[in-house]
Amino acid sequence: MYDCRFQIEIQRNICKWLFTIQQLNHSTTQLSQPFNLLKIQLPQPLNNFNLFLHRMNETVSFDDTAIAFAHKTDKELKEAHFLFSMMGKPLLVQLGTRLAPWSIKAGLPVKGIIRSTIFKQFVGGETLEETSSVAKKLAESNVQVILDYGVEGKEGETAFDAAQQEFIRVIQYAATQPNIPYISIKVTGFARFSLLEKLDELMHTHYGGSLIFSYYAALESLDHAEKEEWKRVVNRMKAVCAAAAATKVGILVDAEETWIQDSVDALTMLMMDEYNARQAVVYNTIQLYRHDRLLFLHQSYEAATERSFILGVKLVRGAYMEKERRRAAEKGYASPIQPSKESSDKDYNSGVRFCIEHIDQIKVIIASHNEESNLKAVELMQQRGLPLHHPQVHFSQLYGMSDNITYNLAKWGCSVSKYLPFGPIKDVVPYLMRRAQENKSVGGQTSRELGLIKKELKRRSIAA
Ligand SMILES: Cc1cc2nc3c(=O)[nH]c(=O)nc-3n(C[C@H](O)[C@H](O)[C@H](O)COP(=O)(O)OP(=O)(O)OC[C@H]3O[C@@H](n4cnc5c(N)ncnc54)[C@H](O)[C@@H]3O)c2cc1C
Repeated sequence: MYDCRFQIEIQRNICKWLFTIQQLNHSTTQLSQPFNLLKIQLPQPLNNFNLFLHRMNETVSFDDTAIAFAHKTDKELKEAHFLFSMMGKPLLVQLGTRLAPWSIKAGLPVKGIIRSTIFKQFVGGETLEETSSVAKKLAESNVQVILDYGVEGKEGETAFDAAQQEFIRVIQYAATQPNIPYISIKVTGFARFSLLEKLDELMHTHYGGSLIFSYYAALESLDHAEKEEWKRVVNRMKAVCAAAAATKVGILVDAEETWIQDSVDALTMLMMDEYNARQAVVYNTIQLYRHDRLLFLHQSYEAATERSFILGVKLVRGAYMEKERRRAAEKGYASPIQPSKESSDKDYNSGVRFCIEHIDQIKVIIASHNEESNLKAVELMQQRGLPLHHPQVHFSQLYGMSDNITYNLAKWGCSVSKYLPFGPIKDVVPYLMRRAQENKSVGGQTSRELGLIKKELKRRSIAA
C-alpha cells in the first residue's frame, strides 16, 4: 500500500546518500573531458546590455495578443478558436477521450480528423523531420524548443531498445539545431511499467535512511531475471545521458505517476550525480501538485550541494491529478495530491522562489501556463538583479498552449521554449488525451486560451 509518510521520511534523508553510494560500491563514471557550457542560445535583443538594465525595472505583461499570435494566420487563429471551443465542452471531451483511443485501436478512419484538429494544435509532426518547420518558425520569435519523442505505452525489450535509439537520434538532431537546447524523455519509454512499480514498492518496504539506500536495497530483492532487466534499463538511461553530455543537449526526465516515481527519481538523481558535475545535463521533474514535493526539492538541493553537482529541475504542477486521486480512493490510501488548487499554486510559487534564491546550484525550468507563477518568477529575477536571460533560468510552455506567455517572455528577452512532442498519431494519443482533459474545465486553461484568441480575433476584426 502506498504510504505518504514514507515519502516524507525518505526525502528527509535523501542527502545522506553519499555514504550509501560509497557503501554500496556505486561506480561513478568520471567524464573524460570537462563540460563546456550547454548550448543555450541567447535571444537576439539580449546582446544589448543596456536594454537589460532598463528592463529590470519594467513590469512584464502577458496581455499583448498581437505579440502572442503574430505567428498565426487568420485561418489558423479561427481553427484554434474552433478547437478550444470544442474542448470547453466537458461532455464532448469525456466522450472523445474514451472514443479516440478505442477508434484508433479498432482501425476506424479517425486519423484524418485527429491530424487536422487536436494533433495539429499540440504536436509538431509525425516524424522528427516534420518538426523542423515548426522549430524554424518558433526560432523567428526567439522561442526555443524542447523536443519530445511522444510515443507512450509501448512495452517489450525491442520497443525499449528502439526508444533508446530514437532518444539518441533526437539528441543528435537537436545538437545540430540552433534552437533546440533540450529533449525530454520518459523512463517508461524504456522500462517496463510493472518493473518500475515493483521497484517502487520494494523501496517502501526497504526504507533505510535515504532514497538511494532504499533503491539499492530494493534492487537486491528483485529476482535474477528482474535484476538483469533493470541493468538494461540503467544502461539505456546511461547511453541516453552520455549522448546528451557529449553533444551538450539537456535531458529532461518527465515525472509520471506517484507509484513509479521513486524509482524514476532515484535513477535520475544518480544520473545527475554522474553527469551534472559542472553543468546541468540531466533534469528531474518536480510535480508541485503533490503535497510532499516542496520538501523533496529542498532535499534534492541538499543532496546536490553535498555531492557537488548542479541540480537540474523542471517545475510543473502535474498532469495526472484525476488518475492519482482515483487510485488513492480505490486503494484506500491518502491522496498524494494537494488538498486544493491554492495549495498547489502556493507550493509551485515557493518552489520557483527556492530555485531562484539558490540559482548558483540549481538550473531551473519553470514549466507552467500559470500567468501569476511566470510573472512572479520574472519579478523575483528582477528583484534579485538577475538578467531576464539568466542562463540558469528557463521558461517553457506546451506547444499549442499559452502563446501569450511564451511570445511575450521571448519579447522580454527571457530564455523560453515550447515543449514540442512528435510521433505517429496512434502513439501520441495518450498525450493528446491529457491535453484535452487539462483543457476541458470551464474555469481552466480553455477559457483562458479562448478569451485570448477572441481578443485577438476582435483586434484583427475577424468574426470567429
Ligand atoms: C514544458 C512542460 C513540461 C511538462 N512536463 C510534465 C511532466 O513531466 N509531468 C507532469 O506531470 N506534467 C508535466 N507538464 C504538464 C503540467 O503538469 C501541466 O501542464 C500543468 O499541471 C498545468 O498547470 P500550470 O502550471 O500550467 O498551471 P494552472 O493551469 O494554473 O494549474 C492547473 C494545474 O493545477 C493543479 N490543480 C488543479 N486543480 C487542483 C486542485 N483542486 N487541487 C490540487 N491541484 C490542482 C493540477 O496540476 C492542474 O493541472 C509539463 C508542462 C510543461 C509546460
